[in-house]
This record gives sequence, C-alpha cells and structure tokens, in this order.
Amino acid sequence: MTSRRLAAGLLLAAAVPLTAAAAAAALRAGHLKLHANRHLIEITAQPRPNCPHCHGEGGWWTGGAFPEMEACGCWSARRELRIRLLPIPAWDEPPF
Ligand SMILES: [Zn+2]
Repeated sequence: MTSRRLAAGLLLAAAVPLTAAAAAAALRAGHLKLHANRHLIEITAQPRPNCPHCHGEGGWWTGGAFPEMEACGCWSARRELRIRLLPIPAWDEPPF
C-alpha cells in the first residue's frame, strides 16, 4: 500500500464519523432557528430577546394550582416553514 492510499484511507476513516455527526444540524440566526436532518428541514421562530412582554423567555406561567404556560405572541404568531424530505419509518414494535 502506498502512502497516498494510506492517507486516503485515513481521511475516509476520519470523514465517516464527521458525516454522521453532521447528519442533523441546527443553526440559530437572530430570532429564527434552522433545523435540518434527512427527514425534514424546518425554520421556526424563537422568542425575541428584547420583547417587552416575555423578556426573551417565550411566555409566562398562568393559573394557580395547575399552572399552564401561555406562549408570547412574539414567536407563536409568526409562521413556520417545514419541508418534509424522507418519510420517518414506522415503528414495528407495539408501544408496550
Ligand atoms: Zn415575547
């Protein structure tokens, strides 16, 4: 085996885990979040850090004994984009 083939083999062996790690990627840019994997590409809205209502938390808790989180309109009223790519395989096993 020549040194050139050995170097190419080592490069390929190093690239396989890197490819597996890069299969799902998430990116935050401003108040949007991009998530992509082989099943879908999705862009979702994130809470605005300078929102006067939620102060970047995305919502607030309401109620007494059984509190529920109420979503702030700074992110929940904005549109989302979701593009489906490959179908998600169905589970063959029963849930329990
Ligand atoms: Zn808000």
